Order: sequence, then C-alpha cells, then structure tokens
Amino acid sequence: MRLHQLAKEMNIDGAKLLQFLNENGGAIGSQHSGVTEEQAELARANFSGSTAGDTSSAPTATNAVISAKVPPLSKPKKEDGKTPTATEPATPTPIPATAEKNESVEVHETETGEVVVDGKLTVKSFAEILEMKPNKIISELMKENVFASINAELKFGVAKKIAEKHGIVLVRKKTPAPSPKTPVEPGKDPGVSSAPDAPDNPETLCLRAPVVSFLGHVDHGKTSLLDKIRKASVAEGESGGITQHIGAYSVEVNDHPITFLDTPGHAAFTAMRARGANLTDIVVLIIAADDGVMPQTKEAIQHAKAAGVCIIVAANKMDLPGANLDKLYQGLMEAELLPEALGGDIGVFPVSAVTGEGIHELLEHINLEAEMLELTANPKRAADGYVIEAKLEPGMGPTATLLIKRGTLKVGDSFISGSCWGKIKALINDKGHKIRTAKPSMAVKCMGLNSVPEAGAAFEIIKDNRQAKKIAKERVEAERQESLKQTKPEEITLENIFEQIDSEKKKELSVLLKCDVQGSLEAVEQLLGEIESDKVSLKILLSAVGNINENDILLAKASHAVILGFHVSKESGVTAIIKREGVEVRLYSVIYEMADDVKRAMTGLIDPEYREKIIGQAEIRQIFEIGKRSKIAGCMVIDGVIRATGKARVKRNDDIIYEGNLSSLKRFQNDAREVRDGQECGISLDNFIDFDTGDIIECYLMEKLEREL
Ligand code: GDP
Repeated sequence: MRLHQLAKEMNIDGAKLLQFLNENGGAIGSQHSGVTEEQAELARANFSGSTAGDTSSAPTATNAVISAKVPPLSKPKKEDGKTPTATEPATPTPIPATAEKNESVEVHETETGEVVVDGKLTVKSFAEILEMKPNKIISELMKENVFASINAELKFGVAKKIAEKHGIVLVRKKTPAPSPKTPVEPGKDPGVSSAPDAPDNPETLCLRAPVVSFLGHVDHGKTSLLDKIRKASVAEGESGGITQHIGAYSVEVNDHPITFLDTPGHAAFTAMRARGANLTDIVVLIIAADDGVMPQTKEAIQHAKAAGVCIIVAANKMDLPGANLDKLYQGLMEAELLPEALGGDIGVFPVSAVTGEGIHELLEHINLEAEMLELTANPKRAADGYVIEAKLEPGMGPTATLLIKRGTLKVGDSFISGSCWGKIKALINDKGHKIRTAKPSMAVKCMGLNSVPEAGAAFEIIKDNRQAKKIAKERVEAERQESLKQTKPEEITLENIFEQIDSEKKKELSVLLKCDVQGSLEAVEQLLGEIESDKVSLKILLSAVGNINENDILLAKASHAVILGFHVSKESGVTAIIKREGVEVRLYSVIYEMADDVKRAMTGLIDPEYREKIIGQAEIRQIFEIGKRSKIAGCMVIDGVIRATGKARVKRNDDIIYEGNLSSLKRFQNDAREVRDGQECGISLDNFIDFDTGDIIECYLMEKLEREL
C-alpha cells in the first residue's frame, strides 16, 4: 500500500503521516512510497480514537505523540487468518496502544442473571466473563471493526453488544460502591458468603429434622426397613411424583420430618465421617431378633460410639418364631449398651420390616430423641452442607445429592465443592418433584455443576458464579501443586531401602475399581482397605465412578490387574475387547461378595505351603533282581498304608539313604494302588536299587496347607 492511500483511508493529512512514520516507523521517501503492513498498523494505532470501538474520535497531535512512545501493536489477523487489506469496505478501528495495561475489573451476577461490570473491561477479562478464549473474542471484535489486543480496554457498548450475542446481559455498575471491605480470615476462601464455621446468632436458629442412618449386621434387615418406611410414607399420600433414589429421603411423622440416609451400613457411614462429613444425628442399630448381636453389629456399635451419635435399637424380624429379645438384650449389654427395659438409656423397639409392626413407634421415638437433641439450624443464610452422592447421569450431566446443614439452598445459587462449581439449575427432591428451595436437613439432588463432586465433601454457596469458578480453579491448581510435591522422588534412606526390600517380598494383587456412585466407591475402598496381610498387598490402581470401558480394560491389561465392578455394567463393545485382551472383569451387586473374592484372590497369590504326612512304613524282607539294572524290594507293610502315588524315603538304621518316588507297587504280580498294614508287597523306586533287607521304606504324602493372608 502507498502512504497516500493509507492517509486517505485514515482520513488524515499525508504529510503528517509521512512525518510520523519517518520519526517512528522507519524511513519513508515520499507520500508515493510503499508502507509495510507493520507501518500501516502503527499509524492506525496512533491516529485512531482513544478506546477500542470508538470510531469517532479524531486523531490529534497529542495522542499521536503519546502513542508514538509505545511499541507498535502486533499485526491484527482476520478470522480467516489473512491480514485485512485497505481495499476492504469497512475500515477496522485499531485499539490504541495506550490501553495496553492490565486493570482488573470487578464482576458480579445479579439474581436476574445480569452481569454487572465495575471498572475497566479488557479483552481478557471480557473473555473470562463470556467463558471464551480471548482470541475468539478478538475475532468477534474484528467483525465489529474493532481491533484489540488481549490487554486492551474495551468500550462498554461494544462489549455489551458481543455479550448479547452470547445470551449475557452486561450492565455497567452505576455508582462506584464505596463498600467497606470485609476482612477475609486467613486461610479462608474470599468470596464465601459467610465463614463456614461462623456460629449463627441464636435468634436465627430454627428446629431442623434429624438425620438418621441405619447400621447393623448384614442381612439383619436395614434395606428392608428403609424400604418399608419409605413405602409407608408414600402410601400415606406424601408423594405425587416418582420416588427417586437420591441417597436420602424424608418422611413426615406426626408433622415432623425425619431424613433417612439410605446407604445403610457402617462402611459408608464411616467413609463419610472420614471425610469430615458428620451428617448423622441418630443411628438406628438394626438387629435381627432371631440372630442377636453379631460381629458387624458390634462393629456398628463401635462406629456409632466413635461418632458420638445417639443410638436407638430396632429389634427386627419380630415376625419370625425364633425372635428372642432376651438374647438380644444380653448381646447389647455385652457390647456395653444398656436397654431401657433393663434400666439403661438405650431404647429398643421390636419391629418387623415384613409386617410393619412397631415401625410407627420407632419413628415416633426418633422424633422424641430429636426433640431432646434440640437440633437447630439457621435457615436464613446461604446454604452449606455435604455432598452425599454424586454421579454423571445421562441427559442430566453431573448431579449431586446435597444434605443441607444450614441455610436455604435455592435454584440459581452459585455452588462450590472442592474443585467442582456451578450455578444450580434445578433441585429435585426424593419424591421426584422439582423444587425451588431446600431447607436445613433436607436432601436434594441438584443439577448445573461443571463436574462430579466427591461424596462426603463439604459444599458452600458463594455470592456469585464467577467467584465460585475462580475458587474452584485455584483449588485445582493447589491440588496439582500438591500432587507434584507428592511425586517428588523419595529420599533414599536405609529405612526406605529396607522397607522396599520387605515390600518386594510381598506379592501384590492389582485391581481397578468401578462403582455406580461415589458413595459406594468409598464404601468399597474402605472395605478392601480393611483386608490385612503381610504376604500379599492389594493395590487399587484406579477407582472411579462409571461403567467399565475400553480404557479400563487396557489399563488392567497393561498392569496385570483385575477389574472389579460394583453396581456397574460394561459399556457396549467392551465384552469383545475383554475377550481379546484376556482381562478378568468381575461384576458385583453385594459389596461383601466382592471383598470375599478379593480376599480369595489375594490368598491365591500366596505360594502354596506343604506339610509332610507319613502314611505308612514297610520293611524290606527280600530283594528280587530283575535283570542287571532293576531290583524289587519284597516288603511287609508294618504300619499304615503304602500308596503307589506316595513319596518314599529309605531308612537304614537312623540314616536316610534315599528320597524320591515309588515307581511301582505290586501285590503278588498285580499293580496295586495301596497296600495296608500286615500285607506283603513289591516296591520299586525311581532310580534307586541300593536297598537292602532290613531297610525301612517310609511312604509319605505332601499335604497342601490352607493358605492364609
Ligand atoms: P440388610 O443386609 O441389613 O440390608 O438386610 P436386608 O434388608 O437385605 O434383609 C435381609 C433378608 O432378611 C431379606 O431376605 C429380607 O427379606 C429379610 N428380612 C428383612 N427384614 C425382615 C423381617 O422383619 N422379617 C422377616 N421375616 N424377614 C426380614
């Protein structure tokens, strides 16, 4: 392009442009000389308005001078990657280089979804608001005839127009808010609506429903009772929707709600607690009255006691003829729980999940206990609580069931849990109803999250979505840094080396775990973690939520691992890959069966151990020579039995002169399988003929010992 053409395009005086370029952009002969694209850009940048998108402002000598002091802008590209030419109809307005400073902008979202911007908006911060890549924004700006670099300041009007194309209503903050900054506690995330541990003003506290967990021995009826209670409440007309398994449900008893966590068992209970999620107020210990206190009942008691929660006993299966309350009381006392009937403080309620007998009384007692516990929470604050279940659901994306500890959760709230964030799009209760708000102690399934949070993790509601996203990103980065630290090569010390040598002696069973939901994954991990052995170690290579896919098979193949699935299936096409790769995949619906199989597999890895078992003795009475190289010992069995398949050792006085196998055992002329005490026989031995009369042939077997972990 010639200089005079550029001057015309920019509507400025040619001589002025020539002077400017000669001073700032390299020597140019005359107004008819050619200008490079860089020189043209430098000129455009300096003779344009002060802000991107402002096509009206006329260049002045002053801004030319200021602009000339900063380096030229990089060459703008069109969307198609080509450099725009002056022959194109619309002349893009370059952004002035003076705007190349990185100011921060404050952004927040209103309840109606408008994005309020306070401060200077740069291409970079605008891209963050739109959750788009800055270069995409730059190309969108080009379509509006605005050329801008990433740190350039944008005119609000242009930004608003582009935001609208993406469905975002951008609003400029009217008055600069002189808001006194609330000091952020050290170590606490900024932007959290209220410090999670801040105690609520007692005047704000209202009664909340108790949260109840069912613990007890396997098969004592936990699931059946949870089902019965739920169905009874549905039958009483509580539901108009389709009941949903969301990890918890709530029933009303005499107008008081009770929340039941419906993943029974102490493994899940403790996995949650281990994550700091002390959700449960009351533990109902389910004991089958025909079976009494069993090992897992005792474990459950220990877990409940460790959690310091209130314990109520349901003596289940009272419909069975073998139901024996006295025996049950006895067991409870041995476990240091004194029933009320015997002067203690533990309520024992005879129930039957089959007939429904006693269930109402049990529920009423739960209410009574809750009343005594004076369970309260402040509903008038941003919600917090725990994730009790989370998964990726087809058609819904990531979903999480949240148990609310305090506050009221609302559709539209900005959510954060660990590194997962999102704006709550919908709340669904256990009856399958869409609801707008959820109060303390309620469990609700929520949608609108960017990923699947971890079960047991705490969640919080943050003032705005951008903050939630920012904090989540910071957490991801912090986690990454942490994991980098952990993978740092270990210091080599003598102790480490000994440990290594020791561990190398151990055999290892490698497994991949796939479960339907985070809750079960943690329960399975917990249970497998309880398997102890000094001979074999269990290595969980991967534990994840979801069906078994091709990657799992390949990982298992590469690491000689077995895949264990709990409540999951194989993705389509995977069966053929499993066959091709020869990987073992086992699917389970009962957690204890999985644990038993793992134990068995670990046991199988232990080298077999044998013990010698002497089964009989024979005395050589006569030697029969058969040809030059073969001899048969004519024997009398003097003790036990001699077996053709047994091993033999020849003893002369106290010396052992041979150890090996029998090559033949004959009774008269015939082969015999065994010859008993008091009978004669002919024995020949593998590669041994140097026996003599009077030698004793001892017959023994190698017995395989039961292997133990
Ligand atoms: P969980 O392992 O503790 O969850 O036990 P389940 O609820 O799965 O029950 C184990 C078995 O006991 C199932 O076959 C149930 O049908 C049965 N069962 C549960 N409760 C009762 C009851 O009150 N009476 C009788 N007769 N059987 C029951």
